[in-house]
Amino acid sequence: MPARTPIVAANWKMHKTVAETEAFLDRFLGGIEQLEGVELFVCPPFPSLPAATERCRRSRVMVAAQNMHAEPHGAFTGEVSAPMLLELGVDGVILGHSERRAMFAETDEALASKVPAALGAGLTPILCVGETEAERDADRTEAVLGSQVEADLAEVDDDRLADVVIAYEPVWAIGTGRNATPEQAAEAVAFIRSLVAGRDQHAGGSIRILYGGSVKPGNAAELLAAETIDGALVGGASLRPGDFEEIALAAADSSASPAESSGSGADGAAGSQPRTAPSSLAPPIFPKVQTGFPCPRSRWSFSMAGAWLRMARATRSPRRPRPCSTSSGRATRTRPCRRAGATSACPMGRWATPRSVT
Ligand code: PEP
Repeated sequence: MPARTPIVAANWKMHKTVAETEAFLDRFLGGIEQLEGVELFVCPPFPSLPAATERCRRSRVMVAAQNMHAEPHGAFTGEVSAPMLLELGVDGVILGHSERRAMFAETDEALASKVPAALGAGLTPILCVGETEAERDADRTEAVLGSQVEADLAEVDDDRLADVVIAYEPVWAIGTGRNATPEQAAEAVAFIRSLVAGRDQHAGGSIRILYGGSVKPGNAAELLAAETIDGALVGGASLRPGDFEEIALAAADSSASPAESSGSGADGAAGSQPRTAPSSLAPPIFPKVQTGFPCPRSRWSFSMAGAWLRMARATRSPRRPRPCSTSSGRATRTRPCRRAGATSACPMGRWATPRSVT
């Protein structure tokens, strides 16, 4: 039975010099020595990484960078690579944060290379996905999340999917003080989990999916109580050691006594055990359609897929088969479907079956 230990990660963005990093960790590490049942990351800016890895070496706190290039070396002025981070003793890397997507032109195409590059180097990728306020208002949340998750994980082998950490970060909740409600967060995280489970059922039960967006000591317990949410990516509140410690405590508590989330049910983890994935995963939301799923490789067909998902949930009946095609009408086959027994012509056929997993 796969166990999902929650993760709480501190995204310091462009805050904290070397001296400030050392001061933070001198205080924070003392406070969390006894804390169990939660994995902790601090993610300082590049120049502070050596100080962080040095301070954290004999602690249980891990260190992640905030970005990296997919290539190990080359003519990429201003970039850093996975081997360079590894040499510093770094454990992970945030990828696809909405600030990088919005302000530094980070694309899903680049992320599709970065995520497997991080995994291949031995770094834990913390992949951020999330919709803007306009996209939520237009009822496009699932379409956006689906397209980001599908594209960013496209080059990750099925047997490595569970090694990725995903952070659901609604853009409208980041740095605004306006967090998603626990229901909104749980619903989006459950949707992301169902996407991963549709590609690989085991990974859907094992992958850690965090919530991020204005998490603070006052709302952490409520947000992390949902069974399907496995921790938090924290920005502003993580800059203060006392606040970050309180959030870490809330995550540890949530793994010790999971609460029921809306509709997903408890998984039976109790006492000081980490939350666990269900022993037999729930059946798919709707019957598997090996052929005829709209090809999510194209954005057009993926948004159609979102509409179809909603319809399928409502009716619980499979959709009439139709060929995988792009908006131009030409079928594309860029890579074979690796799902056992799949016969779909859709090049992303392994994404074709979202599954209900808590
Ligand atoms: C973030 O930047 O990842 C984040 C969640 O920020 P904040 O907690 O400040 O909203």
